[in-house]
Amino acid sequence: MMAPRQQGSTLSPLQREPAPVPGCSECLRLANRRQNARSESDHSAVTDANVYLRRHLKAQHGEG
Ligand SMILES: [Zn+2]
Repeated sequence: MMAPRQQGSTLSPLQREPAPVPGCSECLRLANRRQNARSESDHSAVTDANVYLRRHLKAQHGEG
């Protein structure tokens, strides 16, 4: 019960992509951005979108 909450450090960010929350327009926007980047094979933009989405999930949805 007293154990501190640890972030999973064994998972690579590239292997586990954040999932958008249904009904959230900001999640949808970032998911679309990632999708567009992927369709253009712009891997750095895909990574960027994942970073923004993960940050948004943590800030707005309490996920991380
Ligand atoms: Zn959201």
